[in-house]
Amino acid sequence: MRCTLCPRQCGADREKGERGYCGMPAELYVARAALHPFEEPPISGTRGSGTVFFSGCSLRCVFCQNSAIRGPESGRPMTVEQLGELFLALEGEGAHNINLVTPTHYADRVAAALALVRGRLHIPVVFNCGGYERVETLRLLEGLVDVYLPDFKYISPQMAREYSAAADYATYATAALAEMVRQTGPVRFDADGMMTAGVMVRHLVLPGGRKDSAAVLDRIAATVPVADVRLSLMRQYTPDFLPADGPRFIRRRVTSFEYDSVMEHAVALGFTGYFQTKESVGTAYTPDFSERVFPGM
Ligand code: SF4
Repeated sequence: MRCTLCPRQCGADREKGERGYCGMPAELYVARAALHPFEEPPISGTRGSGTVFFSGCSLRCVFCQNSAIRGPESGRPMTVEQLGELFLALEGEGAHNINLVTPTHYADRVAAALALVRGRLHIPVVFNCGGYERVETLRLLEGLVDVYLPDFKYISPQMAREYSAAADYATYATAALAEMVRQTGPVRFDADGMMTAGVMVRHLVLPGGRKDSAAVLDRIAATVPVADVRLSLMRQYTPDFLPADGPRFIRRRVTSFEYDSVMEHAVALGFTGYFQTKESVGTAYTPDFSERVFPGM
């Protein structure tokens, strides 16, 4: 069957081993699964988020921090049943939630694995994605995902084309955000402040991207009720992962002026959420993919 899971709709016959733009065949490959302490506080909590990093990505941004896990060679193949068992093992290790990182190109298999463990998994499921999603694919996850953690990266088609080869990014991200909020309803937290349902939108401020960042915030506010979502405004961009021939405009870090002006705009629009400190810039928050961790396997 020709794959149309993501907006690329590149039509690769993954069941026959063909790899699409995302770089992956139909078989599941997981690069790392472990408790992760560096997500937002209501996701990581005190014990860590049960992150499952999938190999491959349908977006492949030029500045990606996780480009080391773009292909099957970076991961461990597993069946849908094994993925379900992995979720249960992470819960057994004390994870606050199951955090599916870059899962879009495996959305059908992830939905199948979640359906298998439904009733046995007692922690929230987080779909942590690039925001470049098809509504039709998100509907496979309805009732299986509790928390959506999408990026909303750009409004500008030029930026989206140059950095992610996806000029139509904003159109898909807007429809996806509306669908996510429709599925989960307003954001909710438990007595310990852990997020149990809803949508938290991440936006990474880019060098020279201050005005587009403001446009992203305006678009979110025009699409969903600001009070119903949380915003995670990130300043951790680093050019350390840019290839030598990558765009020169973003070959620097974000200045305090750039980040602060976007933050002020967010506050003026009524967003609440999480604002990163200057100390978060750099590579310290990037998981070590050379260390393969698979609880229970
Ligand atoms: S998920 Fe991969 S194979 Fe499927 S349409 Fe997107 S890029 Fe193509």
